[in-house]
Amino acid sequence: MSFRGIEQTNLRNVSNEDISDKLSEININDTSEKYNEQAVSNLHSELPPLYLNSKPDSVISNDSYLPWNDYFMSLCYLTAARSKDPNTKVGACIVDKENRIVSLGYNGMPRGIKDEQLPWNKEGTYKYQTKYPYVCHAEMNAILNERLISVHDCCIYVSKFPCCECAKLIIQSGIKRVIYSELKPDPLEEQVPTNTMFSLAGIICRKFVPSIHHLSLDVRDGLGKVSITK
Ligand SMILES: [Zn+2]
Repeated sequence: MSFRGIEQTNLRNVSNEDISDKLSEININDTSEKYNEQAVSNLHSELPPLYLNSKPDSVISNDSYLPWNDYFMSLCYLTAARSKDPNTKVGACIVDKENRIVSLGYNGMPRGIKDEQLPWNKEGTYKYQTKYPYVCHAEMNAILNERLISVHDCCIYVSKFPCCECAKLIIQSGIKRVIYSELKPDPLEEQVPTNTMFSLAGIICRKFVPSIHHLSLDVRDGLGKVSITK
């Protein structure tokens, strides 16, 4: 973990022990400016150098971390696991320009309605006997779930290609970028209207390209161990 704007390499060469040793030499009861200036100066001069090498912006080779795109799409997959839909589980994650998560959503029945009160069937004699008129899609829930931060100018990650109804919601909400993982099976029904509207409205829509192959989460024994294979 590094602080915003500070490369991790810059912080590596100073151990916690070094800092606590030196801090213990500072008399916290002496608040005089001169004493504190001297103490801080001593702390800096006696510790090992701050930079590990002469290139603080050197690239860290580390296979154990999750890149942003993979992180957000993984959150979509994880959020989709909350869905009660037995056939199709979809997750969405809205992210602002600074990669802060604004909202998450998954497909489900409208708020206040129990999952067993409406049908989850894909087929029925009449359409009202299927799930389709009732289910709120993941994109809709993510857009409407936002609390304090507007989704305007944000990017939405979604585990399936947005349907035309969600495409309209995305455009109207002010979201500017869409990254989807899986295309719907029927391109004419879903892909063409969505792509047409996105194109005309200036929404950038891209397919997710993973940079990891496998991500697993083992929660046994309360360890919460994540394994990543690149
Ligand atoms: Zn939809």
